[in-house]
Amino acid sequence: MLTGKNAVVTGSTSGIGLGIAEAFAAAGANVMLNGLGDAAEIEKIRAGLEEKYAVKVAYSPANMLKPDEIEAMVKGCESTFGSADILVNNAGIQHVAPIDEFPIEKWDAIIAINLTSAFHSIRAALPGMKEKGWGRVINIASAHALVASPYKSAYVAAKHGIAGLTKTVALEVAQQNITVNAIAPGYVLTPLVEAQIPDTAKARGISEEEVKRDVMLAGQPTKKFVEVENLGALAVFLCQESAASITGATLPVDGGWTAQ
Ligand code: NAD
Repeated sequence: MLTGKNAVVTGSTSGIGLGIAEAFAAAGANVMLNGLGDAAEIEKIRAGLEEKYAVKVAYSPANMLKPDEIEAMVKGCESTFGSADILVNNAGIQHVAPIDEFPIEKWDAIIAINLTSAFHSIRAALPGMKEKGWGRVINIASAHALVASPYKSAYVAAKHGIAGLTKTVALEVAQQNITVNAIAPGYVLTPLVEAQIPDTAKARGISEEEVKRDVMLAGQPTKKFVEVENLGALAVFLCQESAASITGATLPVDGGWTAQ
């Protein structure tokens, strides 16, 4: 399905990014992994994907806070595999606090990792895509690209920003066989979500079980967390020729959350 394509997936050592990287590998693409974590664990993931799916899997340790490292990640995919045909901007962090108590360095880091890193990676990847006359950019946004929740000012601002960046770049490359879309998941039970449960409980003065039931799944009409596999399948679909007319879209995969 994606045989012969090479994909960079940022933040793919965990959660949604890892699920998308695995879906690409299963579809036959070579994958450049990226993300933080224990070197031995990451090597296990890399070698495991390579063996299971008989594709090439590389790893870039680029820190999404550092523009020169982001550019080196994209160029590294081009030099290792021959091209970077698919770019998934997925790396992201979260911090939950009322805005008047929101740490300035957390604001700066969230805007840098969740929004500005996508600017740098797209900027680095587009010349190669234009030269080949084919490309796919997928930005992992959030339901918070479409609606807000209290205490998540930086995250909601960054994710609304990603939706705007997606539309703008889609228009710029619309005639060059390059599509640019965002996927907007509802709650997925990944390490990022697990980590914000205690802070949300504290900010709202409720228990952690109540955060899951009454805060996270309260707005998700299916009353189920979104599965990582659902997001991987959509990312693979967006990379196929049958999705060539889908561009500039922010596609909710949120169990009905933003339908309300
Ligand atoms: P996660 O914490 O499981 O994974 C985040 C990934 O980003 C990890 O691989 C981590 O190493 C990487 N990362 C973090 N900081 C980095 C940095 N400075 N440089 C390089 N890599 C870095 O989180 P997740 O839930 O899988 O989230 C992935 C994306 O999906 C994020 O953009 C998040 O906002 C978005 N999202 C998640 C949910 C959810 O419910 N989990 C919902 C909507 C959107």
